[in-house]
Order: sequence, then structure tokens, then C-alpha cells
Amino acid sequence: MTFEEIADSLLEGSKSSGCPFYEKYEPYEILGRGLCSVVRKCVEKTTKTPYAVKIIDLTRKDNLQATEQREAGYNEIRLLKQCSDHPYIITLHEAFETPAFLFLVFELCPNGELFDLLTQKVRLSEKRARVIMRQLLESIAFLHSKGIMHRDIKCENILLSDSCDIRLSDFGFATVYDKNVIYKELLGTPGYLSPEMLKANSYENQPSYGLAIDMWACGVVLYTLIAGSPPFYNRKTIYMLRDIMNGKYTFSGAEWEDVSSECKELVERMLCVDPTKRITAHEALQQRFLQSTDTVQIRTAVSRVKSVFHAIRAIIRMRRLSRTPQPICKQTLSTKPYKHKALRKLIDSSAYNLYGHWVQRTDEQNRAALFQCFLKPHQAPSLKRRHRLLSDSQLTSQ
Ligand code: ADP
Ligand code: MG
Repeated sequence: MTFEEIADSLLEGSKSSGCPFYEKYEPYEILGRGLCSVVRKCVEKTTKTPYAVKIIDLTRKDNLQATEQREAGYNEIRLLKQCSDHPYIITLHEAFETPAFLFLVFELCPNGELFDLLTQKVRLSEKRARVIMRQLLESIAFLHSKGIMHRDIKCENILLSDSCDIRLSDFGFATVYDKNVIYKELLGTPGYLSPEMLKANSYENQPSYGLAIDMWACGVVLYTLIAGSPPFYNRKTIYMLRDIMNGKYTFSGAEWEDVSSECKELVERMLCVDPTKRITAHEALQQRFLQSTDTVQIRTAVSRVKSVFHAIRAIIRMRRLSRTPQPICKQTLSTKPYKHKALRKLIDSSAYNLYGHWVQRTDEQNRAALFQCFLKPHQAPSLKRRHRLLSDSQLTSQ
């Protein structure tokens, strides 16, 4: 039996035994999965409002024991309740529990994960990345002001609301930082782990890690958004972890060529190996890259002026269209120059200028002969050809 089949049969059990979640909500499709949780869309029966429910399985033996798992779930609920008012942190609507499951009902983020957006776009513009990073750092500054360490900041845990604002989610590893506790636990996702967490976990006599680990993960997020690939990656995880501990990454790819120095500077200050020198969320929000609303506004104003200018020019051109001569292609010009009235006039007058002395000014018949287009015996080259030669020479002279 797969995990989902077991979960579904247990869920059926909780349905029939009158679980309050199922009395109030109708579950729908799966939105995402974790190690011991499934997230589904659900709809509140009375209000028809859609939500997302995280169903934590407390019966899995290969993970934490049920009591530990339940404690972890309670911890997640407790922390979420402290932060749910923040605009960029996911709102926990309500929670239910049964002997086998915990149900956490969240606001629904219909635009999915930031990770999906990045997969779709490959890289984000600095402007888009700036908006996302500002919201992310505001949520981190808020968490850190409450002493909460998230410990699992990554693109998969940053969700997008219907207006595409971020919602920081997944507080499964979050904890309230206590300076009397020595943190050495290795938690999170390999590419986002900080050097001090790796060192604390791998070597003796290393200091405890702290809130700064979240800022390192933010640096990984910003780098990934701009470059479209993570700063630390190696197929062999051990080499990747070594690079993280040495802070070895580069801005050498072509994707970094047009990136502003302000953006690179912020990445560098977040991916600083020494956690005591690493920028804090509050300081990061004051950085030029994130403060450049003025530049954005100026750029917006400039682009607006440009758009107005283009629109006016287009209107003027369209108005003039009836009066402006039609464009002539080069081939028509060389094969049928006489087809166009304006050109016809030009050719005729040029021909007259050249050969006018052949005819008497008053001799209308001879004048007409000058413009004849058929060959007369011993007349070479033809007038038509001369016209062609003339039009060619005009073309090249233009
Ligand atoms: P886990 O702790 O198991 O990683 P998460 O809380 O991160 O659980 O949820 C797993 C996935 O479910 C997320 O990465 C996301 O794709 C989806 N998900 C979670 N919460 C929501 C939500 N409120 N709206 C939409 N999708 C969600
Ligand atoms: Mg997650």
C-alpha cells in the first residue's frame, strides 16, 4: 500500500467517525506534498470559500514518533498563530485534530510556489526580483523581531497569492530562538543550508547557529531568481556542501552581465560566510537595491512619456497616410517604374530634360514621340530601357 492509499483509507475512517474537518470542508485535489503531509484544496461548505488544508499524518513510523510529530504540528500552529497577521506570511485559518491526523486550514495561494514561477520564466527581472525580495525580507524581519528562526526558507516554501504577493509558508522547522540553546541540528534543504549550520553539525567545538541562517537562505533565493540557477550546485552533494562552507560561488555567467552592482552587492552581503558579518533583514531592506523605488518610479515615468510619444507619432503617421505616397519596393521600381504616378512624373521630366533638345518646343507630336515605349527600327537603346537605366541610377544615388 502506498502512503497515499494508507492516508486515503485513514481519511475515510476519520470522515465516517465524524471528523470536524470533513463536517465543515469538502476536500479536493492535491496541491503539494511533503515528507509526512499532503496539501489539498478544500472548500468551506457553508461559505463556499476555497482554502488549502495541510493534512499531517501522525501514523508514519519511518519518521518522528506520533507524539513528536503531533508536538511538531502544535509548534507549527503556535508559531503561525503569532505571525498570521503579517501580509506576507501565510494565514492559518483554523486547525483540527484526530488520533491519526492534524488538519491545518490555510488561506489558498492559487498561484502556487515561487519555484513554479521561476521554472516557467527561467529567470526573473531585477524589478520583479526586487518586489519579491522586499516582501520576503519584510516577513523575515518580522519573524526575527519576534525571535522566530524559520530554518526552511526556499523557493518551494514561498507561495504566491492571487495578486502575486508572496506568502511565506511551511513553519514545520521553525522555532523560537533561545540564546541559551546550542543549535546544531541539520534542517532544511541542501542547496539553502548555511555554512555555520553545516559546520555546527559536522565539527566539534563550533558555535551554535542562529537567526542569520535565514539570511543566507535569502541570499540563495535572490541569486537563484536572478540567475535562474542556484549559487551552489554539484551533482556530488559533498562538493556542494564544501563550496557552501567556503562561500564559493561566482557571478561569471552571461546572465550576470547586465545585473546591477546594487543587486550583486546585496547577494554578496547575504552570502557572507561569517554569520556575525552577514547583513540582517532590517539592514537589507535599507540597501540600495531594495530602496530603489525612486528609480522604478522614474523609469515608469520615463517609459510613460515614451509611450505617449510613440502613440502621438503613430496617430500623426496614420493621419498622414492618405497624403503620404505609397512605399515602393525595389523590384517594382526596377521592373515597372512607370506604374507609379509620382515616379512616372519624375522619369518623364528627367527624360525631357535629357532629350528635350531633340524636339521643337511647339512640336507636340515629336514631344509625344519622346515618351514612346516601343522600339523603332535602328533605335537603340529603347526609351523604355533608358527609363529603366534612369530609375536604376536614381535608385543607387538615393
Ligand atoms: P511540507 O512541510 O510537507 O513541505 P508545505 O507546507 O511546504 O509542507 O506544503 C507542501 C506544498 O503544498 C507547498 O510546497 C505548496 O506547493 C503546497 N501548498 C502548501 N500550502 C499551500 C497553500 N496555502 N496554497 C497553495 N498551495 C499550498
Ligand atoms: Mg515545504
